[in-house]
Formats: sequence, C-alpha cells, structure tokens
Amino acid sequence: MTNHNYASRVQNHNSSIIADLLVQSSDPQNISFAGGYPDASLFPSADLADAFQHAVADNTPAVFQYTDAKGPQELRELVAARHAKHMGYPATADDIIMTQGGQQAIDLLASLFLDAGDGLAIEGPTYLGAISIFENYAPKYYEIPIETDGINLAILEQQLQANRGADRIKLLYLVPDFQNPTGITISVAKRQRLAELAETYDFYIIEDAPYRELRYRGEHLPTLQSFDTHHRVIYVSSFSKILAPSLRIGYICASPTILTAVAGLKSAADIQSPNMTLDALTYYLNHYDIDAHIANMIPYYAKKRQTMIDALHKYMPSEVTFTEPEGGFFLWITAPASLDLNAFMYDVLIPKARIVYIPSQAQYIHGDVANSARLNFSAVAIEKIEPGIRLLAETFTNYLTN
Ligand code: PMP
Repeated sequence: MTNHNYASRVQNHNSSIIADLLVQSSDPQNISFAGGYPDASLFPSADLADAFQHAVADNTPAVFQYTDAKGPQELRELVAARHAKHMGYPATADDIIMTQGGQQAIDLLASLFLDAGDGLAIEGPTYLGAISIFENYAPKYYEIPIETDGINLAILEQQLQANRGADRIKLLYLVPDFQNPTGITISVAKRQRLAELAETYDFYIIEDAPYRELRYRGEHLPTLQSFDTHHRVIYVSSFSKILAPSLRIGYICASPTILTAVAGLKSAADIQSPNMTLDALTYYLNHYDIDAHIANMIPYYAKKRQTMIDALHKYMPSEVTFTEPEGGFFLWITAPASLDLNAFMYDVLIPKARIVYIPSQAQYIHGDVANSARLNFSAVAIEKIEPGIRLLAETFTNYLTN
C-alpha cells in the first residue's frame, strides 16, 4: 500500500501477502494447502437455514432493532453454559460478550490493552490474522519460540524478568490448542505455569482457542483459563470452525470488569453484532445438538489429517520434517535451514507442481524463519491430499538432490 497520507503502520501491513495467497489459493489449477477454511460439505446447512427462518419469524420486530452491545442475554446464557461444560471455567452470562468472530475479539482486546510501544508477547510463529491486528497497535513485540509442547517458557520467563520497566510485557497472545499455524498444543504443565506467571508478572493472556473442540486423537486438555484464579486469562472462541464462518460469531469469556470495558470498545467499533445471526444461533443452540454436530465432523477431519500425515511419511524426503497435530486444521513442515520456502513456492512449486502453502515468513513478526510452511488439510478435497503431498514431496526431492 503506497499513499503518503496513509498511516505508516498500514504501509507495512501484511495484508498484501495474504491477498496474494488468497489469489493463489483460489486458482482452480492449483492444489491449495494454503487455505484455512472449514470443509464446506460439513456445514449443517439445513439446520442453520431453519434457525434463520425462525429467528426472523419468531422475533419480529425485535430482530430488526438495536440491542445490547454484549449480545442477547439468552444467547450469553447458552454460551456460558457450554463454556462452563467444555472449557472448565464456571462462566455465567455476565462473563460473556458476543463478538463478530474471534477476529473482532482479538482486535477489541488489543485495543483495550495496547498503547503504541507496549510490550506484547506472541508465539513465534503465530496466527497471521492476529499479526495483522497487532500491527495496527504498533506494540513492542516479544516473539517467543515454540517447542513441541508449546511456547518456550524459559525464554518467556527470561523476557519477563529482563523487562520490568516501561518495556514490560502487558499482554501474551496464545493459540494453545492445535495452534494456527504449527498444529502444536501447549502441555498441561505449561498451561498451569502460564496462568501463574500472568499473576506474578502482572500481565494478561489471550487464550485464543477456535480449534479446541476439533480434537481427533488424545484427551482434551484443561484450558489455561481453568487454572486462572485471578482473572488474568481472557478466553476467545468462535463458532466459525464448529458451525460456519459466515455467521461471524465469536465470543470473549472474561471477568465482568474487563467485559464492561470491551463492550464500550465494541459499541464504538460496530454498536453490536447483528441480532439476526445472534438470534439464529440462539435458536440453533436451543433446538439442535451442536455437540452431536461436532462429533459428526470429527471423523471426516480425522481422516483428512491422517491421509496427509501418511502421505508425508510415505513420500517426503527425510530432510523435511513435519508436526503431527492431534486436532485443528494445520500442520507445519520444516525444510533444511538453507531453503527459503517462500522463494521455493513462487519459483519452483507453483510453476512446476501448482501447489501452494503459507510460507513461514508471513507468520513471524520478525520474518527471519524462512524454511518452514503451514499446510492445511481441512479445506482441500480428500482425494487431492495424497497426490498433492506426493507432488510436493517429489518437487522437494528433485530440488534437494540437484
Ligand atoms: N484465531 C485463530 C487462531 C484463527 O485461526 C482464526 C481463523 N482463521 C481466528 C482466530 C478468527 O476466526 P473467526 O473470526 O472466523 O472466528
């Protein structure tokens, strides 16, 4: 973006990288492992259509009127009850605000906590949509590397100790379950310790967990919020992956004090989320079984995940390693350090194999890790996964051996 009247934070924005990747992803000739969409065949379309019809017919004219910035009380009660049951935190309606997706939730929280130059810790790599948000607030970043069991706590603690003054870390953004982009999950011991650290060092944690309920193997781990006794963990979730992203419905679960401040910011941003979709969700949750719907989706995603992992084991040269996430939509491949996977994709992979992924640079703040990439298995048609990975692997093999 180039216009000298634009704010400087916008000039450096990563949205052009994402826009280009979307173009590459939507080219029907490419096999796209770049997307992050749910599998559209799994949307409960008829049930949602029914819910929308009822939402309008049963609630006219209120459905067309302004309402509370936090969202309707009945919906917040339903969401709080689900949250208490599945996330292990005794939420009530007073702890919940409905947002336009998890994306707006992160934006409102960034706006609540971050002045320009304030300390923000993030995982390296992290969700690129969160990076796009944080760039607007010009924080001072502390990018903490990820290990196989999640964020590197030794480095985080070192940074917390070293920066006690104006540079101190005020906020930590985490995707603890099947992280976007690596697929890595934070261990229970680290979750517990993170909640303690927040209190000791006086910072807040955004626990962004839109994939949490999409677990294909192993046991659900307790949320960070379930270890939090001091209201330091602010939980963000979304109905995008478990129902449908076009609803644009997410929520924040936090203390009523924090939520009052968030509600003020939400009023300023968009007054409220649309009643029509919120009322449709209320109807859906009252009349359909969302847990059964999620349980029905699990085997489909599990199969896609397994197909991709099996193909990676079978075809990938040993120099290329990969994560084996227990849930979510993504896994993370790492090539030898000398290989720049952004250049490789544009120079070799797209021309020769018509395959796209998301290269690592866009998913780091400092962009200095070039030899990794995110692969998505949720959106790509299952019959394309094995041939796509095989082609990807062959292209790597040819490139690495020449
Ligand atoms: N957080 C993470 C980690 C995500 O992957 C996404 C979607 N890709 C979001 C938040 C935002 O999604 P939505 O606004 O649709 O809830």
